[in-house]
Amino acid sequence: MTDLSSLPLRDSLRGQSPYGAPQLDVPYMLNTNENTHPVPQAVAEAITARVAKVAGGLNRYPDREFTELREHLAAYLGHGITPEQVWAANGSNEVLQQILQAFGGPGRTLLSFLPSYSMYPLLANGTDTAFVDGGRAADHTLSAEHAAALVREHRPNVVFLASPNNPTGTALGLDVIEAIYAAQAQNEAEGGHGAMVVVDEAYAEFALAGTDSALTLLRGRERLIVTRTMSKAFALAGARLGYLAADAAVADALRLVRLPYHLSAVTQATAIAALERVDELLETVEDIKGQRDRIVAELTGMGLVPAVSDSNFVFFGRLADAHAVWEALLERGVLVRDVGIPHHLRVTAGTEEETTAFLDALREIVEQDPAVVSAVDAD
Ligand SMILES: *Cc1c(COP(=O)(O)O)cnc(C)c1O
Repeated sequence: MTDLSSLPLRDSLRGQSPYGAPQLDVPYMLNTNENTHPVPQAVAEAITARVAKVAGGLNRYPDREFTELREHLAAYLGHGITPEQVWAANGSNEVLQQILQAFGGPGRTLLSFLPSYSMYPLLANGTDTAFVDGGRAADHTLSAEHAAALVREHRPNVVFLASPNNPTGTALGLDVIEAIYAAQAQNEAEGGHGAMVVVDEAYAEFALAGTDSALTLLRGRERLIVTRTMSKAFALAGARLGYLAADAAVADALRLVRLPYHLSAVTQATAIAALERVDELLETVEDIKGQRDRIVAELTGMGLVPAVSDSNFVFFGRLADAHAVWEALLERGVLVRDVGIPHHLRVTAGTEEETTAFLDALREIVEQDPAVVSAVDAD
């Protein structure tokens, strides 16, 4: 075997590392924000039955337009969204990649605001789209003024916004999205080009009361795209199904870059069966939100500083040495995420038992050495 550096790789990929959240086999895997509850038995059986029905027809290519699936997705989203406004792919990551293939690319720019989802720069790189980091305030929030000013300054072709943000967990106010949208419209009105504004709502189902979805902003905004996924609340990360809602012309744009028959008949059958049982499938969401709120409360009690969470995970700060705590938790069988932000870690809210295991392990670590929690906010 030769080595990577000797292959005639594109320059933009040289020296890059692939996405790589550790997949370690430990008792408590709380590092990639999946729904840790298994798929309910009745839903698993419904999926099996649907897949069995299509299995005999796998000699043929699947419905390229995944018409029935788009109907189910539109009905689930509500807000008057029609099937023509829906698009889907193998995970929202593929949806985001298709958006960059269609609207980004060589000579074009993606603006996002880091720290955010670690895939955004990688997707930009893979499509040869220049990536601009607009940054955030010291407390990781993003204001409408700052975001709009960055859109005016950099005149991007695409903007990626995670709401709630990952790794921090907090949703964006709709005012921030409106300001970004208005700024790109102003860029275009001045004779330049506008931007596709993408709101990645991977965790929308876990939102706190009073947090509104960007779906409410779609009407009249042809450049706005809201992406969702079945990987988190739906407990179907293994099925790989992400989707979006936008103006119907956006789906037409993505038809130009999608691979033919990109959604397999098995994937379509799985997602349709899940959507037919959506109430049952989402039954764990309230429980997970309860565990999330419990984590926030108990971490605060330990002297740590958790961020507001509209998601199924909690980002918390004021650790003297975050990586040492990450290791100490792993020694106790609990895998959380070190996202590389000093003094902070991120943990997924799991089942009650998993959450208890995490909190007990962390409490033990803090009790053994209270200096684990720093006295001042060391941001
Ligand atoms: C987990 C996550 C996704 C999900 O990606 P899929 O490809 O749908 O599994 C998308 N965006 C963010 C911000 C996430 O954290």
